Amino acid sequence: MTSQRTRLRMIERLRSQGIRDEMVLAAMAEVPRHIFVDEALASRAYEDLSLPIGFGQTISSPHTVARMTELARAGQPLQKVLEIGTGCGYQAAILAKLAKQVYSMERIAALIRKARRNLRDAGVANAHLRHGDGHAGMSGVAPFDAIVMTAAATRAPEALLEQLDVGGRMIFPMASNHGQHLCVIERTGRGYLERRMDAVKFVPLLPGVG
Ligand code: SAH
Repeated sequence: MTSQRTRLRMIERLRSQGIRDEMVLAAMAEVPRHIFVDEALASRAYEDLSLPIGFGQTISSPHTVARMTELARAGQPLQKVLEIGTGCGYQAAILAKLAKQVYSMERIAALIRKARRNLRDAGVANAHLRHGDGHAGMSGVAPFDAIVMTAAATRAPEALLEQLDVGGRMIFPMASNHGQHLCVIERTGRGYLERRMDAVKFVPLLPGVG
């Protein structure tokens, strides 16, 4: 149920759901998703489901992870990526296969500990986790060529937009009266361009640390 075959079936499903970036599909074929969920849920890890990871939080469905990663990559190799909302560390692991360095922030200390364990078990060494409020980003490491925020907000925190490199992109679930949609904000030489994409469902971005 957690074999390479099961994982490859997930990849075929992602293809049929419209994921086109072969690098993203290869990364998702490589990372054992069942390591990142509780043992009791391991058999469901490759279904197209978001699953509970404790503390009222969830790991996003494979399709949502693939889509956000595809949008973050925009067909180009990534150097430095920032993730806000580490959760169990799965999205960070996928990004780590596609970027030189990944930095990821999480407000719940116990989840940071869990994610560190999961990433170690998955053999990921280039993801650096920090306990803190993601609203501030990581100015000491910026600029980033992509920022992936995996918690919903009505707009992108200002500090994060400032930490985007010119030519870089921020992907996040934008909440409005019409529900949530993935939003891509690209930083150009002249300013910021915003695009609204697929409907999604994420937990909210919360202030402070838990
Ligand atoms: N990317 C995760 C899914 C995370 S769910 C994964 O692959 O498992 C969203 C996460 O965002 C939760 O763990 C939540 O605690 C965290 N979060 C919410 N507000 C935050 C904030 N202000 N700073 C950092 N993390 C935050």
